[in-house]
Formats: sequence, C-alpha cells, structure tokens
Amino acid sequence: MTYGSLDGTREVVLTFDDGPDASTTPEVIDVLNEHDIEGIFFVVGKRLASSRGQEIIERAYNDGHVIANHTYSHPKLTKLGNQEIKDELRKTQDLIGDFASEPLLFRPPYGATNARVDKLIQEEGYLKVMWNVDTLDWDKRSKAWVQHGMDQISNREDSLVLMHDIHPTTAEHVNELITRIKSLGENVSFVSYA
Ligand SMILES: [Zn+2]
Repeated sequence: MTYGSLDGTREVVLTFDDGPDASTTPEVIDVLNEHDIEGIFFVVGKRLASSRGQEIIERAYNDGHVIANHTYSHPKLTKLGNQEIKDELRKTQDLIGDFASEPLLFRPPYGATNARVDKLIQEEGYLKVMWNVDTLDWDKRSKAWVQHGMDQISNREDSLVLMHDIHPTTAEHVNELITRIKSLGENVSFVSYA
C-alpha cells in the first residue's frame, strides 16, 4: 500500500464493502470512473455466487478498481473455528478468481478480529485492511453520511474511508463526498494500492 505517506500529501483511499449489488454497485463504479479514482471493493462471496455478481466485479476489475475479499457469508470471524474461517476466505477467493488484487487484500466483517483470526488471515496470504474514517453510511440512510465522513477526513492527514456500495444513499451521494474531498486542496491524492 502506498497509503500513509509523510510527504505532505493527503492520501485518501475509498473502500466499499458488502457488495456487489446489481443496481447500486454499477452506479458507484460510474462515479469513481468519472473522477478517475480507483476504489477498493471488499466483496461478499455469496453475492458473487448469485445474480449479476460476477459480471459486476469483472467490469470493476476491467475499469481498474481493486477487488478484495470480505468473506463468503459476512460472519463475525471471532466466533468461528479455524477451518470455518479458512472456508470463508477460500470460497470467496475461488469466486473472485482472476480478478483478485496483488497483494491479496482482506477486511474482516464488523472489523471483528483477534490474534488468532489475524494469524489465519496472514497465513492465507492476505494483507488486512481496516479503516480510519467510518462514514456510518449503513446507519444514516440519508445524505448525512457525507458530512459525518467529511468531519473526520478534514481533520486527518490520510484517510481510509469505509462505505457500503449496497445502499442507494451511498451510490447517490458518493459524488458529493469526492467533490468535497477534492476541495480540501491540491495536496489531496486518491490512491488504492501500489
Ligand atoms: Zn461488511
């Protein structure tokens, strides 16, 4: 990850969890493309196995976005046994297939992890990616999540922003978030990974 430089630039990573969704994920991809920003999509395996999931991540991948693993069924990994955790990661990785990022990225659902889970994530070959800006877009089902995110981003040098591409209010207002981040200054740079 190039994230977290100390050279005076403010690096911003936009991440989207829990998709893909047949209607809202393509809308988010459109907005990112318009701004020439590469996002990271932490996808849920069971959503890839159904409907248009595969088609959507293929498009995201071809448009330059990063496809990352967010488990198969979105459980709290701290409550699962070791083999169940490995199955959650591997089943999803099989579905992501050739669209996987290099290095492999993983985010635990709910951010729930511990030393045992972290060790398994690492042993399975993943770099764990958390966040430092929580927009609470899943909770604030209105434009309010944009302001909640900006309150945090404005006060940070580097921001790793958590959003969810399955909510219509996220897809609808992500353009405003990006526009407001850009207005913070010319030293803002959107990055995904090296
Ligand atoms: Zn999630």
